[in-house]
Amino acid sequence: MATRASSSFTNIGKSVDVVVIGGGHSGCAAALQCARNGASVALLEMRDGGLGGAYLHETTIPARVYLRSAEIALMARRAGEFAVDVGGEPRIELGGLLRKKQAAVTSIESNMRNSLKKAGVHIAMARGYLAGPERVALLDPESGDDIMTVSAKNIIIASGSRAVAPFGMKPDGARVLIPEQLYSIRNAPKSAIILGNDTTSCEAATLLSALGSSVTIVTEADGLLPEVDEEVAMFLSLEFQKRGINTLFAAQIRSTELGSAGVKANITVGGKQESLSAEIAVACVARQPATDHLGLRKLGIETAYDSSIKVDDHMRTSKARVFAIGECTDPAMLSEEAYAQGEYVAAVIQGDPGRRPAAHDFPRVVETDPPVASLGLTREQARNAQIPITIGRRSLKFNSHAIARGETSGFITLLCEQATGEILGAHIAGPHAAELIGAVALAKKFEYSVTDFAQGFVTGPSLAEAVVEAAQDAVGQHSLDQNG
Ligand SMILES: Cc1cc2nc3c(=O)[nH]c(=O)nc-3n(C[C@H](O)[C@H](O)[C@H](O)COP(=O)(O)OP(=O)(O)OC[C@H]3O[C@@H](n4cnc5c(N)ncnc54)[C@H](O)[C@@H]3O)c2cc1C
Repeated sequence: MATRASSSFTNIGKSVDVVVIGGGHSGCAAALQCARNGASVALLEMRDGGLGGAYLHETTIPARVYLRSAEIALMARRAGEFAVDVGGEPRIELGGLLRKKQAAVTSIESNMRNSLKKAGVHIAMARGYLAGPERVALLDPESGDDIMTVSAKNIIIASGSRAVAPFGMKPDGARVLIPEQLYSIRNAPKSAIILGNDTTSCEAATLLSALGSSVTIVTEADGLLPEVDEEVAMFLSLEFQKRGINTLFAAQIRSTELGSAGVKANITVGGKQESLSAEIAVACVARQPATDHLGLRKLGIETAYDSSIKVDDHMRTSKARVFAIGECTDPAMLSEEAYAQGEYVAAVIQGDPGRRPAAHDFPRVVETDPPVASLGLTREQARNAQIPITIGRRSLKFNSHAIARGETSGFITLLCEQATGEILGAHIAGPHAAELIGAVALAKKFEYSVTDFAQGFVTGPSLAEAVVEAAQDAVGQHSLDQNG
C-alpha cells in the first residue's frame, strides 16, 4: 500500500502535459490513457490508502466482496434444496470478511499502480489545488502545506463525490451508517432500517438479510429501483418479500431520533403517523460532488446548484484546458461510465474525441439475491419517447440449465425497435445477471440487431441460452421448450 513516504515528487518535473487531480476510477483511466497516448502525466491522489478512489476503497469493490459472501451464505442456507448437508446454520464471520476485503483492495491497488507506472505516469500522494489556469499546486494532504507547483498544458479534475446523509442524520458508523460504512461493519445488527430505494439500498438490504438482521426498507417512492424497468422492480419487491425483507413504500420520513437501543424513524404512511425502531439505520439517499477544496471559484470555473462542475460535450469546464470527469460532474454515475469518461477525455486532449459515452451505454447491476441488471431503455422510456417496440422475453422457468441448477426465478427481456430490430434495452433478473447483460451490452455497442442475436451460438445448456431465446422470441422463432 502506498504511503506518503513512498510518494515521489522529485521526478514529476516542473512542467507536464497533463495533471490529473484525483486517483479514483475516472482519474486513473484518464492518466493511463493520456500516458499511452504519449503525454507526460502527473496523477495526484490525497487518500492515505492509495489509488482507486471510492470505487476501490469504499463502494464498488468492498460491496462486491461483502455481497459475494452474502450470496454464499444465502445459498448455503438453501443447501438442503440441493441435497447438500452443511452441518448447521452458515454464518458470515465479519472479522474474516474485513480482512478479505482489505486483501482484495491491496491487490487491486497494486495492480493499478503497476499499470500506471509501467505506462510512465508520475504518481504523487498529494492534494491538488488549482493555482492558475495552467498551474496546479501540490499540497500535503494532512497539513495543507505547499510541496511544489506544476505547470500543465491540460488539467483534468476527477475529484469524485461524497455521501450526504438525509433527514438531519449524522452518520456515526455505529447506529447511523452510510452504505460505504456497511462494508466494514464489525457486528451484525439484530435489525436495520434502510432509508432509500436505489441500488445501494437494495444491496445493503441483501447483505444485512444474509447477516441475519431483520430488515425494513423505507422510501417515499412507490417501489424499488426507480431507474430500472417496471417488471424488474416488481420482481425484486416480490423476491424481497419471499426472503422476509420488509418494504414500506410511499412512506414520508418526518424525523429520526437516536436512542441507547438504536434509531427511531418517525414516518407517515397512508396518512397515519407511525414509528419504526431498529438497532441501526442505513441512509442511502444522496451523494454530493467533492468540489469544495479545489480552488474552482478563484479560477472562475462554473459549478451547478449542487456544486457539480459544469462541462460541455467534450468534458471541458468553462476554462478551455481544464477538464472534469466522473462523479465531480454528476454524483449519480456508474464506475464504468466514470472510467469511460477518463478514456474519452484523453482522446479529446489528443484531438480525436469521437462520441462521448452516455449513461445509457452502460449496464447497471444490482447484486441482490437474485441479482438484477439492466441496459438502455425501459418500457416506460420507450413509451414516453413514442418508439414502437417489440418485446422478446424468456422466463428462466423454461431454461434447462436454470431448472437443472435449481434457480428458475428470473427472466430475460429484450426491447427492440420495431422498424429496425435494434436492441434498445435489456432487463435481466436471475443468477449471473451481471455476466449475461455484458454480452447484450457488447452486441448493442457493435449494433447487432435482434435478428443477429437470435442466430448466436452459446454454450448449452447455459443461462446464456435464455438470452438468445429472448431474441428468438422477439423475432417470432420458438425453441423446443419455448413456453414463457
Ligand atoms: C455503496 C456504493 C456502491 C457502488 N457500487 C457500484 C457498482 O457496483 N458498480 C458501479 O459501476 N458503480 C458503483 N458505485 C459508483 C462508483 O463508486 C462511482 O461511480 C465511482 O467511484 C466514481 O469514480 P470517480 O473517479 O468519479 O470518483 P472517486 O472514485 O470518488 O475518486 C475520486 C478520488 O479523488 C481524490 N481526490 C479528491 N479531491 C482531490 C484533490 N484535491 N487532490 C487529490 N485527490 C483528490 C479522492 O481521494 C478520490 O480517491 C457505487 C457507489 C456507492 C456509493
